[in-house]
Amino acid sequence: MPVQCSSCACSRAVLKRPKTGHSLCKGCFFWAFEEETHRTITSARLFDRGETVAIGASGGKDSTVLAYVLKVLNERYDYGLNLLLLSVDEGITGYRDHSLEAVKTNQQQYDLPLKIVSYEELYGWTMDAIVKQVGVKNNCTFCGVFRRQALDRGAVMLNVDKICTGHNADDVAETVLMNVLRGDVARLNRCTAVSTAGGGSDGVVPRCKPLKYAYEKEIVLYAYFKKLHYFSTECVYSPNAYRGHARTFLKDLEAVRPSAIADVIHSGENLSLKEGVKMPVQGTCSRCGYISSQALCKSCVLLEGLNRGLPKLGIGKHHRLHGRILARQPLTPVEEEKMKTLEF
Ligand code: SF4
Ligand code: ZN
Repeated sequence: MPVQCSSCACSRAVLKRPKTGHSLCKGCFFWAFEEETHRTITSARLFDRGETVAIGASGGKDSTVLAYVLKVLNERYDYGLNLLLLSVDEGITGYRDHSLEAVKTNQQQYDLPLKIVSYEELYGWTMDAIVKQVGVKNNCTFCGVFRRQALDRGAVMLNVDKICTGHNADDVAETVLMNVLRGDVARLNRCTAVSTAGGGSDGVVPRCKPLKYAYEKEIVLYAYFKKLHYFSTECVYSPNAYRGHARTFLKDLEAVRPSAIADVIHSGENLSLKEGVKMPVQGTCSRCGYISSQALCKSCVLLEGLNRGLPKLGIGKHHRLHGRILARQPLTPVEEEKMKTLEF
């Protein structure tokens, strides 16, 4: 027997919300999803009237739904925001070139300006070239560090007030777990924040996550029922094994306890640092001026490693070498040998 929508009771339900278990018709689901995002935005005061906001757009489901919903809410509630799309082209043949096509389609459909910044123009390296040198084991470290900075650099070029990203509840819960498992207290302390002020270790431009409480499953359903155009293939270099384990673990937990994602986020939000825990002190990179807690930012160290053919330089902690890198002094043959290969 067809199930009635538990909200309006006049239409047939087409889905059971993974988040609440309610059976809803399409219209009521759209409304609930959009209103919850609106509540996240207003309760945390993510935006101020008149701001220019860059939506980090990858062409994937999360950022496509974010762009669509922000456009809807900006009109419905008259936020007064100037929205635009900002994409990073990592230079991954067969993946990013295709997903950027989806972003270009969204740009036309949503009528938003689009800026694309590429690793090649910013760093002189594409991910294809990086993978040729470093292999597919640690490539995501390079990609993640470069992307964070590339988004910032693009945002600065466009003079935007804020960047918002499509991180969803599953992503945030995974990151909490990863930081617990790694004992990364500094990141654990800030990874659940719905917004970060600029100038911190997350970047120079303030960032926010309007979909922080949206379950991935609901984002997929929203995109599906709205017939949004997005690219769903995985990156061809996606071994990001550690995140993969955290993801699988979380999915297993969710299968036995559907509220696991919200519970992990709630735990992360309520952790507090005990007194006396040392936190990294933010300064600026002596080479490029980007924020950094070391003499050189992570991006400059990784780049130096690539340019010198010593890719291991930026993986792990080799801070004692920064002074010599800055002074452009050579490393000893033993140090060079150690930094050459990533097979460890
Ligand atoms: Fe970059 Fe790794 Fe993500 Fe691919 S999977 S886009 S290499 S971070
Ligand atoms: Zn730097």
